[in-house]
Amino acid sequence: MKFGLNKLSLCFFPLSVLLIAFTFACKNHQPETADSNTIWWKGNLHTHSLWSDGDHFPEVITRWYKENGYHFLSVSDHNILQQGEMWIQPEYNRHAQSGGGIAVFEQYMEEFGKPWVESRLINDTLEVRLKPLNEYRHLFEEPEKFMLINSEEITDMHVVHVNAHNVLHFIPPQGGETVRETIQNNVNAVHHHHHETGQEMFPHLNHPNFHFAVTAEDLAHIEGLHFFEVYNGHRGVYNYGDENHVDLDRFWDITLTLRLAHLDLGMMFGLAVDDSHHYENSMDHTALPGRGWVMVRADFLTPEYIIRALKAGDFYSTTGVKLRDFSIIDNEYIVEIEDEPGVEYTIQFIGTPKNHDISSRPVLDQFGNELRATRTYSEEIGMFFKEISGTRATYQLTGDELYVRAKIISTKAHPNPFAEGDTEVAWTQPFVVE
Ligand SMILES: [Zn+2]
Ligand SMILES: [Zn+2]
Repeated sequence: MKFGLNKLSLCFFPLSVLLIAFTFACKNHQPETADSNTIWWKGNLHTHSLWSDGDHFPEVITRWYKENGYHFLSVSDHNILQQGEMWIQPEYNRHAQSGGGIAVFEQYMEEFGKPWVESRLINDTLEVRLKPLNEYRHLFEEPEKFMLINSEEITDMHVVHVNAHNVLHFIPPQGGETVRETIQNNVNAVHHHHHETGQEMFPHLNHPNFHFAVTAEDLAHIEGLHFFEVYNGHRGVYNYGDENHVDLDRFWDITLTLRLAHLDLGMMFGLAVDDSHHYENSMDHTALPGRGWVMVRADFLTPEYIIRALKAGDFYSTTGVKLRDFSIIDNEYIVEIEDEPGVEYTIQFIGTPKNHDISSRPVLDQFGNELRATRTYSEEIGMFFKEISGTRATYQLTGDELYVRAKIISTKAHPNPFAEGDTEVAWTQPFVVE
């Protein structure tokens, strides 16, 4: 079944396409469990290297991801593609104090050696050439095993960061008067690049709570943007919000409700990513690899197949919990966990009823002034429809839901957590009920 859509996938695909009607298209199929040969490709969509502010060489980073079970990796440096000639001075780079300077070069040299590693002395200063993606990718890429995706973190004013995936050329930050306009301009630039080239690509909004730059209302209003980071492994990005800012689960539900019920702007999928900057032997653990990733169900490991599956919502995001399957069959939202011994799981079905109270009020500071923050909404937005303990759960759709998504919370401590006390979790993608 490796290269064929199984029966379940055939059910899943048409149902999961953006805003597809609640058609009962699969109702003639008996409920069934996932084909045990279903392929989930593991990938990280947000990675930095010495090409921008990451602390290691791209080859060392790529080797880490490949050896740790990933099938694909988007290299997404800030405002640069890994192409052209680039020399760095390891002794003087910004990470030199935290073990990312000359020690990193020595490790690179030890692992990849001469003549691969190119260095020179200019006025007694060591310089090392950074390999462009197209030069080093052959060391790692293998059909159906591992691939790299050429991406860019478009890093713009107002702390707006947008990852553009599978680009063919550099996209400069587009600017804008406001946060919303800046996101929209960059999203438009990615779509323009796609239309110009015919290449499959997509933008995703990064870490909305970084500097609390983006509100759910901002994200809700962006046309043509269907992905955001519900989890980012960098410890500076406030995934869980603070006293004035909602956590990213609630952020997602508010965004979805506004987009689907009030703005007609379509789906918003939630990604988990590393945003890794610090790698092996770094003393800085702010942004280590291996904290959050996506698992994508696609027939082939190519950028096109992976991106199309992402756009169809045929993926889940996770910080460690593995799913055997999630699907909609016979009006049931089904989640099945690939369980680990000794670990317990809670499966929450979350959504907003079609008939809901959308009134909201602003968040005020101690002086009564309105803060720039996601507004406060009723508990109907992103309510719990059902919660089950176990390794398999189903939710019977009533037709009264605007959308339903699931979050799976395990009791297993995350080995490399974003925040102290984190346990491994996973998020499935929303299913829109029409
Ligand atoms: Zn960023
Ligand atoms: Zn980043």
